[in-house]
Amino acid sequence: METAVADGILWLFRFVAGASIFSFVNVVVYRFPRGISVVSGRSHCPACGRTLGAAELIPCVSYLLLRGKCSGCGGKILFRYFLTECLGGVLFCACCVRFGCGQTGILSARGLTAFLYLAILTAVAQIDRDTRLIYDRFHVGTALLGVASQVLFPEHSLTDRLVGTLVVALPMLALTVLVKGAFGGGDIKLMAVSGFLLGTRAIITAMFVGILTGGVYAIVMLLRKRLGRRDSFAFGPFLAFGLGLSFFYGDEIANWYLSILGI
Ligand SMILES: [Zn+2]
Repeated sequence: METAVADGILWLFRFVAGASIFSFVNVVVYRFPRGISVVSGRSHCPACGRTLGAAELIPCVSYLLLRGKCSGCGGKILFRYFLTECLGGVLFCACCVRFGCGQTGILSARGLTAFLYLAILTAVAQIDRDTRLIYDRFHVGTALLGVASQVLFPEHSLTDRLVGTLVVALPMLALTVLVKGAFGGGDIKLMAVSGFLLGTRAIITAMFVGILTGGVYAIVMLLRKRLGRRDSFAFGPFLAFGLGLSFFYGDEIANWYLSILGI
């Protein structure tokens, strides 16, 4: 009984840790495109500029208590902020389950690598959707995780990683040279640095998942006449989803698919 309670508290702590870090992802998503520093200045209401109090900064909970409105001006707080915080909590726990809780009992170094990558992907997806840009600092962050993963994920050899860097990014680059605007430069760079981090099989899986989900989205939007034939849309969110999924199960999905093909 006591261990069950202790266990529950530990999981709650992990959820809160993840939600708090993704609360910072919300800050990054709001401030980066506006050129505001992410480290200086307290959080404020974008509508009235009022500095937020401590009770308004509790991840997930504050949104529910405030019923999605600023207590000063009544301005709407985006539901997306709430969702992002909850996602962070869930993902932190998921990283612990998949990659181990480590000697600290909170999260292993492998799990932390995965979680930080998911935080980057979440910011990339949202900023790309908002602005159609993927900032180079996210590529740099992913590259640093790639370097760390050489030690933490020795199951991927250096050759596997170098092939992974090129196997998706190079065809994307070639296609973009042939068909102007096929992919954005930010998308291509994201797949290159992620290829080093994930390895060959997982990066290919990520691309397939991205194209599949992005394709379904495009078809639905075309049918609903929300998108014209010549319109383009942000591909980053779909790539980010594919990459996140592949960090967890990319190798397994690839092996399963190859086994179906009898390879
Ligand atoms: Zn306000």
